[in-house]
Amino acid sequence: MSGEFRQIAWIRGQTPADPRVPIGPGDDAALVELQSRGLLATVDMLLEGVHFSFDEATPVDVGRKAMNVNLSDIAAMAGTPLFALLAVGLPPGSPTSVPEGLFEGLKEAADRFNVAIIGGDTNSSRSGVVVSVTVLGEPHPKGVVKRSGAKVGDALMVTGKLGYSRLGKHLSFTPRIAEARRLHECCRLTAMMDLSDGLGGDVFHLTGESGVGAVIHADAIPIADGPHDDRSPLQHALSDGEDFELLFATPPEDAERLLIDQPLADIGVSLSRIGAVTRELGVRLRHGDAETPLEPSGFVHHW
Ligand SMILES: [Mg+2]
Repeated sequence: MSGEFRQIAWIRGQTPADPRVPIGPGDDAALVELQSRGLLATVDMLLEGVHFSFDEATPVDVGRKAMNVNLSDIAAMAGTPLFALLAVGLPPGSPTSVPEGLFEGLKEAADRFNVAIIGGDTNSSRSGVVVSVTVLGEPHPKGVVKRSGAKVGDALMVTGKLGYSRLGKHLSFTPRIAEARRLHECCRLTAMMDLSDGLGGDVFHLTGESGVGAVIHADAIPIADGPHDDRSPLQHALSDGEDFELLFATPPEDAERLLIDQPLADIGVSLSRIGAVTRELGVRLRHGDAETPLEPSGFVHHW
């Protein structure tokens, strides 16, 4: 039996019958049952040597992350992930522990959020391991939350803590699926995205898409704990990236209520108001009484 046949048989053995998936892995294409609200679709590829190294991450870690970065993108739209398709490239001679570990991590993350793996493909890679995951999901009955709806005067808020993700969170983060849904149900989210590049870069994506600017209060940014080094904690929070927390805009009265109610406290996730949406374009960082323009890289010279 060829390698590909073994993989298909193995994936089929790992994916139990699912009423949402009348035809799963093994046929030429999968068939899924869909509600009629539309389909969210996202894809993300991780490359060995570019996005990960097996010196610092196990195959299980890489598989889990490859699934979770996609789930985080569905969360960023306030959607629910349903199905995943996998594509894996392996250098010739890779031990079977690599694809098995990748799949274990992919499946662990998918199972955690009731996502069915409905298809996969493996191929030979000439250089390094490649893991690409496509996730399909459904929008919330209230609709999707885009990046582009932030209004002047809205509060800017984030979930959790930012920075120092390289200490481990970048491999073990929780996609904020439940959190995003709950926020969407309890308040008016005018714009939202997940923080993958770091607040100091991503805030430009949200404000840029919305045609607005922002002022960020440096002292209000929730910063994760990390060791002392040559960069300030604020620098880490702005530019480390891979936080996979949510950045969202909401009217100020909704923000007030969120700060008092802390509706995610029971799942251990804090909510912080870090600034406000402004008519003036660009992003400024306020530190006490002083304000400096933030560069899109997240780099700030003065603090
Ligand atoms: Mg994203």
